Parts: sequence; structure tokens; C-alpha cells
Amino acid sequence: MILCSIQRTLGISDDNSVMNVIKKFMKHKLFVEQLLEAADKIYEFGNFVSWTNIGPAFHEAFRLTLGQSTITNIVKFLISLLDLSTTTNKDEGLFSLISCMLNELLSFVFKQAAVNPPTTSELCSLLNLLLKCGNGYLSSVKLITSSILESLECSRAIDVVEQLLQPILIPFLLKLQSYRSNENAQSCFLTLHEHCFNILNQYCLEPLPPIIFKAQSIDCDCNDCQTLILFLCDSTKSKQQFTIDKDRGTHFHETIKKLGSLSCVYEHLTDDSGQKLLVLKISDYEKKHRTCLLLRDVVLNMIKQKSYHLQRELSENFKCSSPKRFKQA
Ligand SMILES: [Zn+2]
Repeated sequence: MILCSIQRTLGISDDNSVMNVIKKFMKHKLFVEQLLEAADKIYEFGNFVSWTNIGPAFHEAFRLTLGQSTITNIVKFLISLLDLSTTTNKDEGLFSLISCMLNELLSFVFKQAAVNPPTTSELCSLLNLLLKCGNGYLSSVKLITSSILESLECSRAIDVVEQLLQPILIPFLLKLQSYRSNENAQSCFLTLHEHCFNILNQYCLEPLPPIIFKAQSIDCDCNDCQTLILFLCDSTKSKQQFTIDKDRGTHFHETIKKLGSLSCVYEHLTDDSGQKLLVLKISDYEKKHRTCLLLRDVVLNMIKQKSYHLQRELSENFKCSSPKRFKQA
């Protein structure tokens, strides 16, 4: 119907001419610019005119987006297209087009890697796309996994946990767990899991450096601040309770805030006459250390869950096989 209306609007009499107009339009700057933004519309459009017809022109437009968009956006687009293609009847024309685009993307990323290496997040999204395509692409999966490990080694020590493990790799490991029937995903999970666990364990076992407070950053001689300075300079104390008059509360809180890289956690304790505050010395390093301990637990639990699922699967298999093995004569 759409083809007919295009034919009428443009005054063109045959289908081939309409297809030529569409293909010409697909080379247009605007089409290329907006291609990655509407996977669902592209999917409908391709289904309508047939992927075999539109494939080469579409591939050409996709090639043009490679230098213009981010890897994450391109991966997102391909994943949406892949999801759409597998939810309905699998169209072989579309599936081979997705494979071509994926190969194109991989070759683009690897060619660029020397000058413009992909970030850890981009590598994870690429890996996710490859794993979604099934059990193929083994050599690419291996190559990207080792690139992720390299990016871990190249990062500055403390940044690894805060900038790579916590926001990117641990969520990615959780995602990898969902690809249970994918062998590539499983071996990829084990390799990355081992590295993440070792890094976290190393930080958790490191002794904490002594806390050194800069008392001179408190520039006030009121009684509350002077008591606070004494507490901060006393290396034997890690916490102290302060009773602050209600009208002095704001000043005291502001003084604590000013302590720069070192921070104090304060807790309100119920008291009618004033505010009772428990001030704890916590350095940034201690906060990071605490995060490492929590993350190490998360990572350890992944393996526990994994072995639980494995045991369940084995026992399920056993349940299934029992009646077959002991059939009545
Ligand atoms: Zn003061």
C-alpha cells in the first residue's frame, strides 16, 4: 500500500523505480544520521520492502554511521534489531544482514584500536552483542575478553574498583550469568570473574593506612571546634560523642563538612536539650575499602549461585532420567 502511494505521489509507474528512489533516499545525510535512533521503524520498513531488496543499500548506510556514532550506540541499534528479528519469525535476509553489519563493526573497532582504543564499557557492550548472536564468533569473543583484561591492568590502581569494576564489570558479570546455554559466555564469565575477584581480594587484604587529619583546616576557636580539633588529633580515638547546643548545630555541621578529603559521619541521638552527635573518623580510603568488601561479597555470591544452579540442574536431570532407567517390565 505504501509503495502504491509512493508510486502515485511521485508519478512513477513501476516498483523498480520506487525502489531506486528509496535506495537514493537511504544515501541521504539525514537518513544516515537518524538510522541508529529508530530500530523498530527500520525493522518495519525492511520487512515491508523485503530485506533482500533493501539489504545492500541498508548496509551501505550503516557503514557510514561507523565513523559518526559511538560504538555503544551502534551496538544498541544492532541488539534492538536482533531482538526484534528473533521475537517474530526469523527472517534469514535480515539475520545475514545483521551478521554483515556486526563483522563490519568488529573490523572497524579492531582497525581503530591502535589509534583510538575502545573503552572497557564499549568492549563489554560489543561482547554482549557477540554473545547474543549465539555460540559463534569465538575468536572475537576471546580477543575482546583479553582486551578487557588489558584495560584492567592499564588502569591506575584505585581507579579500577571505582571506575571499572563497580559501574561496568560487575553489572556485566551479572548479565553474563543469564546466558546459561552459551558456552562462550560461560568461559568469558569465568575468566572475567576470576580477575575481578582477585583484584577485589587484593584490595580487601591490604592493610589500611593510618588516618591523618588536618586539624589546621578548622579555623575557629569556639569551644565545640576546639574539642573537635582535640579529637581529630588524638590518633587513639576513632569516635567521640559531642553534645552541641541546638543553635550551634549548623556551625558544627559546617565545620565537619569543611574537613576536605577526610570526612566524619555523624549520627543524631535523641536528646531534648541539644543535639548529641556521634562523630566517627572515616577516611576516603576506608570508604573505598568498605566498598571493596561489599563488592567482593557480590562477586563471591555469583559463584555460589552458579554452583547452586548447577546442582539443581544435575538433580533435575537425575529426576528425569530415573523413571526411564527403571521402567517396569
Ligand atoms: Zn567553631
